[in-house]
Amino acid sequence: MKPSSVLFPPAVIGVFGSGQLGRMLALAARAMGYRIHTYSPDRDSPTGQVADREVCAPYDDLDAVRNFVREVDVVTFEFENVAAAVAEVAAEEGVPVRPGGHVLHTTQQRLREKQFLRGAGLPVTPFAAVRTEEDLRSAMDQIGAPAVLKTAAFGYDGKGQRRIDAPEQALSAWNALGRQEAILEGFVDFERELSVVAARGMDGSFAHWGVIENVHRNHILDLSVAPARLEPRLACEAVELARAVLEALDVVGVLCVEMFLDRRGRLLINELAPRPHNSGHLTIEASITSQFEQQARAVCGLPLGATDLLRPAAMANLLGDLWSHGEPNWAAALADRGIKLHLYGKKEPRKGRKMGHLTALADTIEEARARVLKARSALARQHDSALESRETAALSEWADVVNEGGSHDS
Ligand code: AMP
Repeated sequence: MKPSSVLFPPAVIGVFGSGQLGRMLALAARAMGYRIHTYSPDRDSPTGQVADREVCAPYDDLDAVRNFVREVDVVTFEFENVAAAVAEVAAEEGVPVRPGGHVLHTTQQRLREKQFLRGAGLPVTPFAAVRTEEDLRSAMDQIGAPAVLKTAAFGYDGKGQRRIDAPEQALSAWNALGRQEAILEGFVDFERELSVVAARGMDGSFAHWGVIENVHRNHILDLSVAPARLEPRLACEAVELARAVLEALDVVGVLCVEMFLDRRGRLLINELAPRPHNSGHLTIEASITSQFEQQARAVCGLPLGATDLLRPAAMANLLGDLWSHGEPNWAAALADRGIKLHLYGKKEPRKGRKMGHLTALADTIEEARARVLKARSALARQHDSALESRETAALSEWADVVNEGGSHDS
């Protein structure tokens, strides 16, 4: 279709990937009158269920990719591990890719991403590249223990990571990762995990939702709260880091910068996600413009929407584990009439799989957090008292800032 800078509804947004991020993008974009096509190997996917068209084909089937891009006005991603060739095909067909293929290329490989950030003068965790055993030895000398060894490609939610507590563990950790190209990072004894979700328009305009505070369990995001409990100077610094990343990468779209606040009060960038992010789901209820509407606006060239947070908010993920004793008790969670339920339409509730989330708004972040955790614990009420007592424990942990960083795969 024709390339044009601003795409008004009912233009067609083509999304590579078909998970929950694409689903929430589709819901927001369709509310504005856009049409959504989704491409992934999966059928009846979270995005496909709410899209105008679902194309099921492998990402490396470039004929299918070409046919797909010919039917859309702009291409975007909800999943960054798509081959760069996809963006090249779109470019050959004259269809804009937003954010551009270069953003995908940089962010889909941890080493490239960290090298880019360091090259742009931005603060990152100490790291070194590992391609050979010799590299591994010199990386260990340089970084020291404790450290985290991560595969350079295709890692998310702690997959492809090994913690190393002493230099003699390095080789077995690398063997366990299949001796793939890797990055050795210093282990950050962080005080908090933070994220800034931000957007950049085609005209270079910038919008953000402030700093979000995140707690992970078993490397998977468990809870997000906004605004983060942070002194204003650090909050400004975090937002400025995000702005610098989006500008340096020349992003058009939404990008999340995940950071650590270390115990010396320094912000260090952990990783980038060039798309809406799990920690930004609370913007659906807590902001005038959600991260998903913003993605649609940005990639279509519309003005970015206002991102003021209307009230303090908290989001709790619902993982497949919640189904271990049958269907969760939805009515019990929704007995608090302020709780919002999101389910992603996934049929198989596997352990650790993101099935949905709950959001609560309140007058304070403490209250929002307590409400969302209480609602999540109510989901398990008739089924799993162990889960409920974990939730109760989580509630009392809030006073101390949680540092889950010590629980790496090993
Ligand atoms: P990642 O896949 O890199 O986002 O890592 C998932 C989670 O593992 C992060 O959110 C942290 O909780 C933890 N983690 C990753 N890298 C480090 C590090 N260098 N130091 C401490 N914790 C880390």
